[in-house]
Amino acid sequence: MSVENLGLKPEVIPTDWRAGADADAVEAHLNKDGEKAIKAVCVVHNETSTGTHSWIDEVRKAMDAADHPALLMVDTISSLAVMDYRHDEWGVDVAICGSQKGLMLPPGLSFTAVSDKALAAMKTAKLPRSYWAWDDMLELNRDGVFPYTPPTAHLFGLSEAIDMLLEEGLDNVFERHARMAEAVRRAAQAWGLELWCRDPKYHSTAVTAVKMPDGHNADAFRKVVLDTFNMSLGTGLNKLAGKAFRIGHLGDTNDLTILGALAGVEMGLRLAGVPHKQGGVDAAMAYFAETARTASAKAA
Ligand SMILES: *Cc1c(COP(=O)(O)O)cnc(C)c1O
Repeated sequence: MSVENLGLKPEVIPTDWRAGADADAVEAHLNKDGEKAIKAVCVVHNETSTGTHSWIDEVRKAMDAADHPALLMVDTISSLAVMDYRHDEWGVDVAICGSQKGLMLPPGLSFTAVSDKALAAMKTAKLPRSYWAWDDMLELNRDGVFPYTPPTAHLFGLSEAIDMLLEEGLDNVFERHARMAEAVRRAAQAWGLELWCRDPKYHSTAVTAVKMPDGHNADAFRKVVLDTFNMSLGTGLNKLAGKAFRIGHLGDTNDLTILGALAGVEMGLRLAGVPHKQGGVDAAMAYFAETARTASAKAA
């Protein structure tokens, strides 16, 4: 684990991989830390590998209930600009994000949002740092410059991506992704396939992981889809290897791009001989049609 390379001692709270972070388990764990030695609670807002969404506000409440001073650190890499995220309101101390998911850019930029409490912690922290030192960055940013050569092309791209998001309106962006996710879940249900995330409370609006029927390998199925339709589905990672495939619906997606992806999956299931029912694409089309809004209604 890479944090160990920095001399940190991670304590992993084992949890159900088919649900989001368990705030009660966080609270119980912090309550055991009588010395208040734990420095940070780290949570992933949207678990991209399992298609589960964690409720950061619940984790915050759990930390407050345990009256623990640890910093709350959140990975928003696949959630920012896809689903609602409230840094200040949820009392998050450090959030990290990257350019390559909901912000629709190539990889190469990352961002942090940092609370005053985290900035104060930095002053006494003893971990070695140089390139990632916030103080160097803040100092020079005050005059609008960077301590190192910035990736200018990415910054122009980011400016454009933000314009696109604001033009659509963030609430509309979040609603669009929620709609895409619902259509994909309806398709999976019509196919008779299980979702990896088994509790609707934690369903992700960024990506849906679909469980393969037992005895069928997700990667063999993914290869059929890639070879036949030139469509690359997300692979199952770690514990999900071979057991699930993932349909991404974050970023620049719309009804028709999602229907194209679902059609590729449905045909792929047939070609790969994976037991399923037909009708997933029909279910998604029906849902899209029922909830369709014209461009002029959206603008109103
Ligand atoms: C994609 C992703 C990452 C990986 O980001 P890197 O820029 O490769 O570090 C980390 N966390 C989540 C939740 C992701 O979706």
